[in-house]
Amino acid sequence: MSAIGIDLGGTKIQGVRVDHDRVVSDVKVATPTGGVDEVVAAVADCVRRLCAQGGVTGVAGVGVGAPGVVDVGTGDVVRAPNLPGFEDRVALAAKLGDALDGMRTVVDNDANVAVLAEHRVGAARGSNDVLGVWVGTGVGGGLVLDGRLRRGPVGGAGEIGHMAVAGVTRRCGCGQVGHLEAVAGRAAMEAEARRRHEAGEQTALVELAGTRRMKSSVFAKALEAGDQVARQLLDDAVVALGMAVASAAALVDLELVVVGGGLADKLGAHFVGRVDQAVRARLFVPTSPLRVVPAALGDLAGATGAALLLDE
Ligand SMILES: [Zn+2]
Repeated sequence: MSAIGIDLGGTKIQGVRVDHDRVVSDVKVATPTGGVDEVVAAVADCVRRLCAQGGVTGVAGVGVGAPGVVDVGTGDVVRAPNLPGFEDRVALAAKLGDALDGMRTVVDNDANVAVLAEHRVGAARGSNDVLGVWVGTGVGGGLVLDGRLRRGPVGGAGEIGHMAVAGVTRRCGCGQVGHLEAVAGRAAMEAEARRRHEAGEQTALVELAGTRRMKSSVFAKALEAGDQVARQLLDDAVVALGMAVASAAALVDLELVVVGGGLADKLGAHFVGRVDQAVRARLFVPTSPLRVVPAALGDLAGATGAALLLDE
């Protein structure tokens, strides 16, 4: 049996066809900016293309990982500020099902489906209590407890990016002050680098990015060149990640933490190793076997996990 998985992002739509837990084909298109109907049509088109590759018979349905708050019961995206047209509730599963002649459609949060994928077929295979931390534009997270994805009453479980961290005084993208994402998210680090640049500090980050978005590769290059601002920003991010993950471990007792996302993937195993040390130094139970490891599925984690929703 095959399943189609879609990772619906603010800039791109990544789709995969998964057959017996293996990705057999994939497609990628830019996310349309014209609103809900265009986005639904683009997703439906990806699904049709993936169905055409290998035949529509035997396709169990389509799973979608969407950013923001998702009502898993109805398949509605409640609020996704990074998706054009999704600022208010959108009945995504229903609309997509209609566009695909009634094909079974399920929707969950993108960070949740990514951790589901790492748990089932990636770096966290065989571990029962797993936290996924996705360090990208923001900081997302998902939680597997006793071998099952934990969602909580409003689907907000695992949102480690919005845990308060000691010493953080910056405002988070969510509006609150002091959250992990305000120190460890790429967008927040970019804002801080530009603020320091304007205050007169030299940094390769701004020289490399110019007026364009400060991509993860820019952070990697600046770090390699020994840039002081890049080093300080990432040092702060590592400490904040260490505090937040150690706090999460104190609460639910974790076995494994998987760190992925655009920035973490770009900075590689060295960055994840530093997070591991920062967590270890702060564990309440020093004998804990907890390990922090890099994610294994890279860019395809979200789409793969979305497909795995079908037989969760
Ligand atoms: Zn926040």
